[in-house]
Amino acid sequence: MIIHWFIPASLRLHHFLLSALLLPMFVLATPLPDVRFAVLSFESKATTQVRWQPLIDYLQQEMPHFALHLQTYHLDELNYAVSQKQVDFVLTQPSQYVVFTHKYKLSSPLASIVNVEGGEPTEYFGGVIFTHIKHHHINDLSQLKGKRIAAASANSLGAYQMQAFELLEQGIHLPDDVTLIETGQPQSKAVEQVLSGEADVGFVRTGVLEKLAKQNKIDLSQIKLLGAQRFADFPFATSTRLYPEWPLAVLPHVNKDIARQVSVAVLAMQHHSDITLQAGIAGFTVAGDYRDIDQLMRELRLPPFDQQSVHLEDIISHWGSELQVTLLALFFFFLMILLLFQHRNRALRLANEDIAKKTEQLHRLTMAIDQSPEIIMITDHLAKIDYINPATEKVTGYREQELLGKNPRMLQSGMTDSKTYQTLWQNITQGETWEGELINKRKNGDIYHTQTVISPVKDEKGHITHYLAIQRDISQEKKDQQRIHQLLYTDMLTGLGNRSLLIETLDDLLKPVEHHHEHEQLGCLMFLNIDHFKWINNMHGVTTGDHLLVSFADRLTHFVGESGITVRMVDDEFAILLIVSEHWQQNEEWLFGWEQALQKEITTPFKIGQDMVTIHCSIGITYLYAPEAKAHRIDVINQVFGQAATALKLAQKRGGNRLEMFKEEMAKQDLERHIVEQELEYAIGHNELRLYLQSQYDTDNTLVGAECLIRWQHPKKGLVPPGVFISIAEQSDLIIGLSDWVLEEACGVISQIQDYLPHVTLSVNISPRHFLQPSFVDGVMSVIRAHHIKPSQLILEITEGLFLENLDEVVSKMKLLKDLGFSLSIDDFGTGYSSLSYLKQLPVDELKIDRAFVTALEEQGLSQSLVETIYVVATKMQMRVVAEGVETDYQASLLNTLPDIVQQGYLYGKPELAASWVAHWRDKMRSE
Ligand code: C2E
Ligand code: CA
Ligand code: CA
Repeated sequence: MIIHWFIPASLRLHHFLLSALLLPMFVLATPLPDVRFAVLSFESKATTQVRWQPLIDYLQQEMPHFALHLQTYHLDELNYAVSQKQVDFVLTQPSQYVVFTHKYKLSSPLASIVNVEGGEPTEYFGGVIFTHIKHHHINDLSQLKGKRIAAASANSLGAYQMQAFELLEQGIHLPDDVTLIETGQPQSKAVEQVLSGEADVGFVRTGVLEKLAKQNKIDLSQIKLLGAQRFADFPFATSTRLYPEWPLAVLPHVNKDIARQVSVAVLAMQHHSDITLQAGIAGFTVAGDYRDIDQLMRELRLPPFDQQSVHLEDIISHWGSELQVTLLALFFFFLMILLLFQHRNRALRLANEDIAKKTEQLHRLTMAIDQSPEIIMITDHLAKIDYINPATEKVTGYREQELLGKNPRMLQSGMTDSKTYQTLWQNITQGETWEGELINKRKNGDIYHTQTVISPVKDEKGHITHYLAIQRDISQEKKDQQRIHQLLYTDMLTGLGNRSLLIETLDDLLKPVEHHHEHEQLGCLMFLNIDHFKWINNMHGVTTGDHLLVSFADRLTHFVGESGITVRMVDDEFAILLIVSEHWQQNEEWLFGWEQALQKEITTPFKIGQDMVTIHCSIGITYLYAPEAKAHRIDVINQVFGQAATALKLAQKRGGNRLEMFKEEMAKQDLERHIVEQELEYAIGHNELRLYLQSQYDTDNTLVGAECLIRWQHPKKGLVPPGVFISIAEQSDLIIGLSDWVLEEACGVISQIQDYLPHVTLSVNISPRHFLQPSFVDGVMSVIRAHHIKPSQLILEITEGLFLENLDEVVSKMKLLKDLGFSLSIDDFGTGYSSLSYLKQLPVDELKIDRAFVTALEEQGLSQSLVETIYVVATKMQMRVVAEGVETDYQASLLNTLPDIVQQGYLYGKPELAASWVAHWRDKMRSE
């Protein structure tokens, strides 16, 4: 099942608001922004819809400012919907989620499902491998080679892939090394096959056997588990490692705040409620770790990690049995014998007995070759065909008599590159093996592609006597590749190319070509956006909107013709890449005339059904020049995309229905960010930064620490909060200068308060980029030493984003810091990119529960909120817990029931200038 929501990109929302302002009548009916939940459906969609609708209704109550929609999809449809961003949140099976992270850049999941298996809540699942008790000779996994194995489907993670992965580690490759019987769902069919003796071994997901036994359908004493292990907190035996259940994930285009609200709402849901009961689950929990599934899929070479090319090894292993593996070696022998036969060699007669034995071997080999699906062909040293196997007749359509004595050239299609034949001959005449692809022609004229390996065969003196060719018909694979290419590069609605095609075309165009000089004009790139398209959708309906996009696409393609390509980028945004032509080169004004004609073409009304619809476009244009030889093409492409987008934005800002040509000054206007960067760099060296401190208290209201929060005293803008500049600083090394400043100030404060607040700690926020600097640990140590303070007085707050980097490196650095005496805290814990399962591996002293969860206490109470869950797990792991953003007495009263929790928030005090915070506490402590 899939959960889907339509979340309008903020841009579309913006458009909508704009049109609402222009058309007051729309204000009355302002629709709420859509949020689309997709659920993968493995049964009928109606059933899935019924199961999950209550969850959506619940979320709708929690998120009254959005319109939530549930969408259900079957497997392939979901893939398409996610690729088209028709979905905002996705609930799907773990392996598909992993595919999505690779294809569509989904980030860590927000939450994972807690399932109910045999009445028990489980966050994980695994695979079971079993046999009938009567098979005394099958006792462990290493004995499964050659056995008949029953499994529901090779696509199933729990009923096949997990087991295959486990067996791979035992050196058994599925499905080649066994006889696989795919029974189809339900998985109980695999159990029946084993019990009835039709299969030796069966695979099912954990919990299935126990469930069948509970229903009295099987007798567990008749079943023997193989490689079974038990894990704490998991109720069933498993033969594989455990993997997390279905994740709830968010697409990258979705606003973080919405993701956070969904995350808080699902995690706060009561387990075993009516809603979860209807969905057939126990509830949701903090997201599990899906990297193991990623690894499994890579090692099993499941899509998208499968690869197309065939290697000699693959062909050999494809032949299976050990006899066949030694085929090549024995084959040489076979050849020699064959020759001897042909020339009536005397030696043959002399070695009669020996030959009888070898003939027997030969017979078996011939059988193997005869039955091989690969083309096997032997020629003499002059390339005259001596031998072909039956597969050759089948694939080429020629009969043996038509091929023997001929040159294999007769199969050539003329479509293989002549260079390929050159290297082929060069290699094999020098005695080396050649491997590559050839395009050949069947007798009936059809073209087919082969993956070919040709090896020379030598006699004892090392002279080449024959050539052996093995070929595999890969025409179907080629067709599949083309289809995939088409899917990847085509926009489904309009049939135009998409953004990827544009990038590829640009990449080709920018490739260095001898006759191009640097900076020579190559063409121009235009971004077009239909003005107020949202409006058209609202007035005429989405179907009309879609028709309009299709007609618009047709019209553009016609108009552009051979002069360039037209693609649809996203939604109502199109791009035209116009390539320099003769007219253009000869006449500077040509482009101007072309643009005017284009605008006229666009504003000609469209007839959509009964309606006539007139549209206008905003257009941004930039020229394209041949790059310098050393430039990276992808940088050039990013640059022209940025320029066309900037020009487009300006055209929109100026009211639309116009065309703007990109100019360098625009880049500057657009680069407000750039200015912030420059000013901030100045600010660090010129005393414009201010350190603020916010106190933290324990449940007895004793001061235990303070968090360092930076502010910027801007000469014109006044006091600027960190939200405005930290994220800009984080994109360059500016954050390091800034962070060093904070550390220096914080250590200064610690040395000032040492006498009267010896146990109070200061927390400093550390950005990932700073933490990952090789010199980070040395840097912090040298500030500490300069101020003569102890590392234990400093808490370094890091965020979960850091763990998406090289985890091993991060963990070893954390251990080093901890050994040196620093404390480490995870900031904003629980906001969606977190996993309690990571925590066990991490040397962390403190968790800061995000403000969103503290706010949610107000409505949910303690027992239903995630605060208590995090608190319980963290204290079990000896971690301190800080609740952030405590604003009300009610929140404080609930938090105070959790022993040793630390609180920080406006209720206790807003962040205060460090100097006045120090003065306040000095006076207070001295007067006591
Ligand atoms: P943060 O680390 O989560 O800091 C807590 C933020 O919540 C602070 O905002 C604080 O003023 C605010 N806050 C505290 N109590 C309450 C409350 O009761 N209600 C509400 N509504 N807010 C409360 P601030 O100071 O604007 O900082 C925002 C973020 O900027 C920080 O979030 C942190 O991520 C970043 N930041 C601040 N200073 C630094 C710094 O020196 N270095 C780095 N790398 N990041 C910093
Ligand atoms: Ca913080
Ligand atoms: Ca925080």
